[in-house]
Amino acid sequence: MTAAYEYETHEYDVVVVGAGGAGLRATLGMAEQGLRTACVTKVFPTRSHTVAAQGGIAASLANMGPDNWQWHMYDTVKGSDWLGDTDAMEYLAREAPKAVYELDHYGVPFSRTEEGKIYQRPFGGHTTEFGEGPAVQRTCAAADRTGHAILHTLYGQSVKNNAEFYIEYFAIDLLMSDDGECQGVVCWKLDDGTFHVFHAKMVVLATGGYGRAYFSATSAHTCTGDGGGMVMRAGLPMQDLEFVQFHPTGIYGSGCLITEGARGEGGYLTNSEGERFMERYAPQYKDLAPRDYVSRSMTMEIREGRGVGDEGDHIHLNLSHLPADALAERLPGISESAKIFAGVDVTKEPIPVLPTVHYNMGGIPTNYWGEVLNPTEDNPTGVVPGLMAVGEAGCASVHGANRLGSNSLIDLVVFGRAAAIRAGKVVDRDAPVPTPPQAQIDKCFARFDGLRYAKGAIPTADLRLEMQKTMQRDAAVFRTAKTMKEGVEAMTEIAGKMGDLHVTDTSLVWNSDLMETLELTNLMPSAISTIVSAEARHESRGAHAHEDYPERDDENWRVHTVSRVDETGTKVDLSYRPVIVDPLTGEDEGGINLKKIAPKARTF
Ligand SMILES: Cc1cc2nc3c(=O)[nH]c(=O)nc-3n(C[C@H](O)[C@H](O)[C@H](O)COP(=O)(O)OP(=O)(O)OC[C@H]3O[C@@H](n4cnc5c(N)ncnc54)[C@H](O)[C@@H]3O)c2cc1C
Repeated sequence: MTAAYEYETHEYDVVVVGAGGAGLRATLGMAEQGLRTACVTKVFPTRSHTVAAQGGIAASLANMGPDNWQWHMYDTVKGSDWLGDTDAMEYLAREAPKAVYELDHYGVPFSRTEEGKIYQRPFGGHTTEFGEGPAVQRTCAAADRTGHAILHTLYGQSVKNNAEFYIEYFAIDLLMSDDGECQGVVCWKLDDGTFHVFHAKMVVLATGGYGRAYFSATSAHTCTGDGGGMVMRAGLPMQDLEFVQFHPTGIYGSGCLITEGARGEGGYLTNSEGERFMERYAPQYKDLAPRDYVSRSMTMEIREGRGVGDEGDHIHLNLSHLPADALAERLPGISESAKIFAGVDVTKEPIPVLPTVHYNMGGIPTNYWGEVLNPTEDNPTGVVPGLMAVGEAGCASVHGANRLGSNSLIDLVVFGRAAAIRAGKVVDRDAPVPTPPQAQIDKCFARFDGLRYAKGAIPTADLRLEMQKTMQRDAAVFRTAKTMKEGVEAMTEIAGKMGDLHVTDTSLVWNSDLMETLELTNLMPSAISTIVSAEARHESRGAHAHEDYPERDDENWRVHTVSRVDETGTKVDLSYRPVIVDPLTGEDEGGINLKKIAPKARTF
């Protein structure tokens, strides 16, 4: 018998969980539709990871030269290595300019051209003429603080439109009706230890990625895949989790990003023998080979025993041969980050770096309206009533096997907006708010109580570290049948230890021990699904580079992986659903020519 927990009940048309770019755009849109909207967030809205996005947001505004949405769509299709859903990619590229101009009118302080238009910069993989022409300047920027600017603007606009914010409320679990409709969510208020049960006609998960399943990630410590955990505990699946994007140069330990510009300015990588090993792997482009290629080469050096440091588990990035004034002028931010996060003076010493998890292409499967899917063989696009997912938590799927830079911020606002448009149509404002089954609420508190008083042998931080190191080693940039088999075995054992956790602090106010334990219950199923999905995919596509199957195999593998974790948390069941290949509009209606986007080898 578990202790009874008292709680307050709240009723809304819509509850959005998450206040990053995706959650705030959805919240604002829902409020504008006249829906009674609450936004629940475990951190203050403007501290969400979106705040760290610097580079910018892609949209074919054609402010700096010729561009159009069809070219943007083509680049996105090719970038996805033909695993994205075509309807969603068309929707993204077509709606992007509208979504960016809306941001502009809401007040995002975009950088400007001489004529006063929104400034756009070049970014990797964004081209003209369906990949035949030169690079295009498509990425709209507010200096190098684009995410920051978007978050602050959207938060202000949401408050202005009477959305209600529940800040530092941790969402624990979804409340599902007996016939599979989502009817609400249970939250724990972190600063006073009270509990809050939200009843809602629509719940929108905008909880971000799960980068922290890995040892080294550029994402915030709060990126723990909570939405995915809630979905999996509700018996619903995740999609394409094997596709994890790595950036070659995160600072060892903290994972803080060191821009590719550091190598652009002449920096180079070395191993424990002081060798510039990239000359061996990529004689032509050396340290400026593509990101996935450099990351794989670094991992190979470490695996073969030529990593640096006491544990031989990272690589050096050298900048000290560059003139000190050039470093101060061109790379001041990097010099500062290296000092703060690695204690390194870049004019004298190399920076310890490691290929670092940067983005999750996979997530909660949705259609291009943000409605969550529960694919079955008979109905691969069946929708879960009352539940939506947007942003990095979701998988629409526009990024497929690999995301292009600046395509995430646009994904947040296009699909946050789409979810609101859809909810405006499907949520009945006059209908009563549903009452979720009491048994679901009791079950959530029983789980919470079990974790609060967990008195096993392993502290949460220790098990988390074991998971992170295993994922870093075995579900890495460089994958072989052997490493992934070892990884699946190791992760099965690690996930099996969740029942043996030890939580020291049982209080309910600002209990970070317990909160991190709840987060680990979300990270763990994402982690094990990632490695099991990766082991099963016998091809190489986008971020999934399988040494034993080096070719892309469209005949057998142009399919989305659908993964479900069982109640024990140690078994993952996989099925597959076809990629959507039809666009929304054909060439006759001003849409896309299917021949242009038909699969072909991805060369650059
Ligand atoms: C360093 C860095 C730089 C980047 N630069 C770019 C760039 O230049 N361009 C680009 O397109 N992309 C970039 N990206 C990727 C992009 O920024 C992210 O994919 C995107 O910001 C994710 O936004 P989101 O709204 O989905 O989630 P987040 O911004 O991560 O927000 C998640 C929200 O969910 C809430 N939440 C989570 N769990 C719970 C819970 N249990 N209960 C309550 N609330 C919860 C959090 O409080 C938070 O508000 C970058 C990413 C990083 C890490």
